[in-house]
Amino acid sequence: MIAKEKNDPTVNACKLCSPLGASFVFKGIENCIPLLHGSQGCSTYIRRYMIGHFREPIDIASTNFGEETAIFGGRENLTIALDNIIKAYKPSVIGIATTCLSETIGDDVPMYLGSYVNDRKDLVIPKLVHVSTPSYKGTHQDGFYATINSLIETIAEGGEKTKTINFIMNLFSPADIRWFKELSECYNIESIIMPDYSDTLDGEYWGEYKRMPEGGTKIEDIQKMGRSIGTIEFGNILSEKGGAGEILESKFGVKSYGIGFPVGITNTDYFFSLLESITDTKLPEKYRKERGLLIDSYVDGHKYLFGKKAVLYGEDDLVLGLASFIRELGMIPVVIGTGRKTGLLEKVINEVIPDYKSLNISIIENIDFEDIGRIAQEKEADILIGHSKGYKVARDLNIPLIRVGFPIHDRIGGQRVRVLGYQGTQELLDRIINAIIEKKQSDSPVGYMAM
Ligand code: SF4
Repeated sequence: MIAKEKNDPTVNACKLCSPLGASFVFKGIENCIPLLHGSQGCSTYIRRYMIGHFREPIDIASTNFGEETAIFGGRENLTIALDNIIKAYKPSVIGIATTCLSETIGDDVPMYLGSYVNDRKDLVIPKLVHVSTPSYKGTHQDGFYATINSLIETIAEGGEKTKTINFIMNLFSPADIRWFKELSECYNIESIIMPDYSDTLDGEYWGEYKRMPEGGTKIEDIQKMGRSIGTIEFGNILSEKGGAGEILESKFGVKSYGIGFPVGITNTDYFFSLLESITDTKLPEKYRKERGLLIDSYVDGHKYLFGKKAVLYGEDDLVLGLASFIRELGMIPVVIGTGRKTGLLEKVINEVIPDYKSLNISIIENIDFEDIGRIAQEKEADILIGHSKGYKVARDLNIPLIRVGFPIHDRIGGQRVRVLGYQGTQELLDRIINAIIEKKQSDSPVGYMAM
């Protein structure tokens, strides 16, 4: 594995900030508003990224630190912000994520929140869920996982067991989250999907502006998660404290299954076999058929894809799923890179691609786009697969970019990009094959009309 030296500067980071991950999760909780404890710019930056990707109005409140707050602490600003939010939005939950500044000055947010609630004993206060998200210590993924853990720690309850399954999401697109809803109906199983921003971040047209979009995981459902028969949590490299599934297992005895992203045939087969064993239900005909169609497409695409070199970058669990899929196609993921730094990526890639060393695959944590561009050129990559921030590299190298993950802010439809399940893999596969064909066609001086 290639790793940056401690003092190497990052040039065009391949990661986003930690409270952004927290905001994703809070937007997936019903009637919840995220509040960033820090300067105005943090919430503006995050809103700008999310609006560019989701093309929806996104409200994220801020405690609006100024010079005085930075010196004397943000207690008063937090109190004013909570009062204002309760008055303006009437939320059920306020999700409070800290920013670099409030973390650096050491604001004791849990103590502030405790006295806020104490001072308002006679009033009905929304649930206040706090998560610590110093961005100098983590990425948007760390913020995402820490926020799920915090919600589960704060809200989930035990009790008599039900037949419900918990699906704990990763940074999936709204379209991929909707797939879990469809799947639950098809299998005829009760499920709790958390967080669920499939409607709040990808809603229908509104005639009139709504302060709080409809949708999201209900608080009552998060409470019930401690009574479910099992949890399927997506991600092999979760938070260092363990994932939310582990919390539910250790506190309430809900069996937890941590699995990789169901991208490609091997991973999706594993997901469905797990679901079959937990629910004791056979794979519905619909998915058996989708699988058969996908295998047929692998055969059709083989002559275009075999031996092609791909650069994969983005969140570690996403690139891990993509790497497994890319190898199924006979392609070589010459670079597997993530902006996150856990020291675990190489170990999990070794489980998926045991011959990665002989294939000369570079596995890089804490990667930036300078590294991606340089190594992609050295290895003569044919295609980039990742989010929109790779556009400049793709343009410089004159190779196609397949946009997956977050952010996709130079195209429409980032919220509808599918990669999960047989159907999502099929959509991704078609995009990759067509990009390779299109490149070959446009590079050819002949102008072939059939490729
Ligand atoms: S200061 Fe920290 S929390 Fe704020 S936008 Fe920058 S990285 Fe994110």
